[in-house]
Amino acid sequence: MIELNPHYAELKDSYLFRRIGAKTEAYCAAHPGTRLLRMGIGDVSLPLAPAVIRALHEAVDDQADKATFHGYLPECGAPFFREAVADHYRGRGIALTDGEVFVSSGASDELGDILDLFSPSSAALIMEPAYPAYVDASVIAGRRIVRLPAGEGNGFLPAPDDSLDADLVYLCSPNNPTGAVFPRELLGSWVDFANRRGAVILFDAAYEAFIEDPALPRSIFEIDGARTCAVEICSLSKTAGFTGTRLGYTVIPKDLTRGGQSLHAMWTRNRTTKTNGVSYILQRGGAAVFSEEGQRQIRENIAVYKRNAKTLMRVLDSVGVWYTGGRNAPYIWMKCPDGMKSWDFFDLLLNEIQVVGTPGEGFGACGEGYFRFSTFGSPEDTEEAAERVVRVLG
Ligand code: PLP
Repeated sequence: MIELNPHYAELKDSYLFRRIGAKTEAYCAAHPGTRLLRMGIGDVSLPLAPAVIRALHEAVDDQADKATFHGYLPECGAPFFREAVADHYRGRGIALTDGEVFVSSGASDELGDILDLFSPSSAALIMEPAYPAYVDASVIAGRRIVRLPAGEGNGFLPAPDDSLDADLVYLCSPNNPTGAVFPRELLGSWVDFANRRGAVILFDAAYEAFIEDPALPRSIFEIDGARTCAVEICSLSKTAGFTGTRLGYTVIPKDLTRGGQSLHAMWTRNRTTKTNGVSYILQRGGAAVFSEEGQRQIRENIAVYKRNAKTLMRVLDSVGVWYTGGRNAPYIWMKCPDGMKSWDFFDLLLNEIQVVGTPGEGFGACGEGYFRFSTFGSPEDTEEAAERVVRVLG
């Protein structure tokens, strides 16, 4: 009989958001008519920018006409999309060639698929609390995981240490769930660590567009030495509202080699084998994000989420609760009151004020005692949630 991947049995039985969903559904079934405020899952609430919608419509029309119809596109991305992304980087002072940009169907797909480049015997360093997909993708691959707990003491931004025995380093900045952003110098020490060890950094920049402090790096390629040790995985999901539309991109510099092999060449080989690329229509919509008009419009949407963050931060400040995030990230990571455990705080908010957030424990053991609020909801819901939260915390 065929032998299945035994590592699936090692996955935690219940994915965080499924457990939240089950608890929330049970509450709603027992309390029909409740107005629940969902401040948990990180899904956007604003529609795509008008410039993107126009490009999508035009691309659909192209597909209706023999003269403009597109069949298969290059697997690694349509030249117009790769160029738009590389131009965007160049505009921010980062010299990339178009060929170093790969289109993707989103960061999640990429974070899992890119592991094909590394031997299953290579160990993955995961700072916790972490986006759950890092751990799960590494478990499925049977990879050894080195957990690096972060905490209030280091602002949830751990520093490297040469005793860490890992080959792949996941860095997420701005971080989900903590909203913490690596300052330039600390990111530089991770780059030095990776280059010294011959490790590779998988830099998850899904939330880079939320960084407003110009002193903070939005790309790992702003750091000297990153071109020889890092892959940057980006998404249009949160930047431009593509969670349900699906599009992202990954940057692999041509200077990144290990054991004499080019990761860029390997990934090109991987993509040309395992995908036939991403739809022409979506890539046209994605390219529109990088137009002047698209950038202005996505900034307007991000500003709405930023105002939500301010609303929540104001309330937390007023009651003296410790938190990170919010300023340069769409998440606020707060300390539960009175030493409460995070699932207990979840139950308290659900039962007492009908607000749903995300228990920190779901992002790793060191997230216990913390709680995540997302700022992606509507301003009305966020304001009402903030008023209700102050009743519990005040
Ligand atoms: N990386 C992080 C840190 C995320 O929080 C998310 C989604 O919430 C993703 C990646 C996935 O993004 P995508 O929608 O592009 O798959």
